[in-house]
Amino acid sequence: MPRRPRIAEISELVTHINSQLDAFRVNYDQLSLRQRVERLVVLRHGSDDLGVSVLHDSIECQKSAKARIEAYLISNVGKKVHGDELAVVSGISEYGRRIRELRVEHGYAIYTGASSDNDVGIDLATDEYMLTKIAADVEAPRRWHIANRIRKIPGGARNRLLLYFKENVLRIVTTEELRYVAKSNEFPRRIRELRTEEGYPIATHYTGRPDLRPGEYVLLDSERIAEPHDRKITVEVQQEVYQRDKNTCRKCQWKPENWISSDPRILELHHFVEHAKGGKNISDNLLVLCSRCHDDIHAGRIDLSNV
Ligand SMILES: [Zn+2]
Ligand SMILES: [Zn+2]
Repeated sequence: MPRRPRIAEISELVTHINSQLDAFRVNYDQLSLRQRVERLVVLRHGSDDLGVSVLHDSIECQKSAKARIEAYLISNVGKKVHGDELAVVSGISEYGRRIRELRVEHGYAIYTGASSDNDVGIDLATDEYMLTKIAADVEAPRRWHIANRIRKIPGGARNRLLLYFKENVLRIVTTEELRYVAKSNEFPRRIRELRTEEGYPIATHYTGRPDLRPGEYVLLDSERIAEPHDRKITVEVQQEVYQRDKNTCRKCQWKPENWISSDPRILELHHFVEHAKGGKNISDNLLVLCSRCHDDIHAGRIDLSNV
């Protein structure tokens, strides 16, 4: 194989690539297939080195491929980045492995197309990547450790997802972790089933927890299971009602920001006209209440005046 040159200066690199390219064009007809490919390999290495140098010039000098990927994702936080860009800045084709390390060992919230999940606002094509926040999550390595253990439990994906949520009650978990635990790209559907068929209060940015980012879920309470008729409210209607009521209890104005461990509440949806009396699962018939007010209303201790 042609030896790989290591030239750091941009102008030197460009000159080197230009001369290689010229030689390729001039000699093309005389070259065997093998020779043509070898020249292209040299060109490719030159362009890899150029990518590394470009990053050295624009971001602080980063020595390892992983550090360069990290710096590049941070400089593009919240934006889609194509895998080809990561290949350029890292100078390696094995960047996927570095992404996993950044996620699992360093705690970065990096999403990929393989985990597209519209329920939480992650919509990436295959080989697209997105870092959703600059700060690494110090709890992530611990959660990945748990995820690794639960992943090995036999049985269905839905059961493993529930076990994972239950080990992280009130803690943010990410779609990447959930996909890993589920061992299936169908995990968003399984999470919807946990909500709709089993009634678990699993919140996202759109459903009661606007502080959450794309790609994040929280199980709010492992004991409190929604009534069967409440589980039929579509995600779209839930989003609409939570947004309209500004993620606040209409009775007492409690919001998730007010959460304290001595008074743990969650936001829930309540029907004006209850389901048994023909009330529909439409936004006009629903309102947001905190779980304490919700209990008081159903127990008849308070009513819906002044909401
Ligand atoms: Zn309330
Ligand atoms: Zn209710």
